[in-house]
Amino acid sequence: MDSPYRCWAEIDLGALERNIKRIRAALPKDIQYLAVVKADAYGHGMAQTVARLMRSGADMFAVANMGEAAEILEIGSGWPILLLSAILPGEDRYLADYNVIATISTAEEVERFSRVGKEAGKRIPVHMKIDTGMGRLGVWYEEAPTLYDKILTNPHLSLEGIFTHFSSADTDQEFTEHQRALFLETLDKLPNLDRAKLLIHADNSAALESFTPGTSFNAVRLGLLQFGVCPYARSFLAKVKVEPVLSFHSRVGLVRSVPAGTGISYQRTHILAENTRVAVITAGYGDGLPVSASNRGKVLVNGRLCPILGRVTMDQTVIDVTSLPEIRSGDPVTFIGRQGNGFIDITDFCRWAGQISWEVFCSITKRVPRIYRTDSAV
Ligand SMILES: *Cc1c(COP(=O)(O)O)cnc(C)c1O
Repeated sequence: MDSPYRCWAEIDLGALERNIKRIRAALPKDIQYLAVVKADAYGHGMAQTVARLMRSGADMFAVANMGEAAEILEIGSGWPILLLSAILPGEDRYLADYNVIATISTAEEVERFSRVGKEAGKRIPVHMKIDTGMGRLGVWYEEAPTLYDKILTNPHLSLEGIFTHFSSADTDQEFTEHQRALFLETLDKLPNLDRAKLLIHADNSAALESFTPGTSFNAVRLGLLQFGVCPYARSFLAKVKVEPVLSFHSRVGLVRSVPAGTGISYQRTHILAENTRVAVITAGYGDGLPVSASNRGKVLVNGRLCPILGRVTMDQTVIDVTSLPEIRSGDPVTFIGRQGNGFIDITDFCRWAGQISWEVFCSITKRVPRIYRTDSAV
């Protein structure tokens, strides 16, 4: 079907490549780069994103589940894949087939994964996760030495890494420092720890702000930053200068004049104070423009910001274009990104939508085609 897109996302793979190269250049040379590409590479598209990251210096990938790991293996082999989420008992057997690295938090998982290794006649690679204050996965740090011993002495498991996860890297640097110190202290309590052989990692994007070279960390685990969103730019991250990879667009479906007093959209969520020229955009929450942006969000048309009127509906959204008499049906509309002299940063979109950046990316639905710019990085 050859017709214009009604709503689409543009993904600039050259920008992705420049980002990872800039991030790597800002870190010590021997630091391993784990590219986090869960949830369809943060909605950017697993296949294209992973292929470009493979060419741009990613050492390893991290995903949420077995299906995502299988997708990566289909794109290319040779990159280790870490599963970040808990593995369901029914998925255990794939550990041996796919040779992916499991995250271990409990003694029960040691038993389960060890059974898989025994049956397959090989050691299952694992990273031990330590809970230093996230309260999700991981063994509580005080109990880490016991679990560590169980893993290390198990003949069917191979300990390849140890990690923790920060709960507040984008909001609370003090707590992040506390978690970092706790993690390093815990490592010191693990007997016969071969730091050179293990991947020791904690830093997500925001945590890079307090990354200190020369400590035991020899890997970083980055998602958001490689897509050009800097969740906490102070000193270090402000210098890395990543660029946005994704922009999000739609079109004007029709333009009409509506008299003062008219209620706009369901429940008449906006009542026009004056005679108004409105444009009806061909996108709504069925595409990822959230209902929470109703009567709050702004979009770019002809490079100018126009307010959303009334409730965002599934397929259509009304905006005020009274100040733009030149607007016609078919004109492009931008939700996130640059248009002419106008720019909507994802942070603006987040504020209007009441969403966090990770969520914005994951909320762009599968109805929205991803259009790739495949230029090289230079
Ligand atoms: C998603 C995730 C990351 C990446 O976080 P960003 O903030 O996107 O860099 C790192 N580690 C774990 C355990 C995660 O779940």
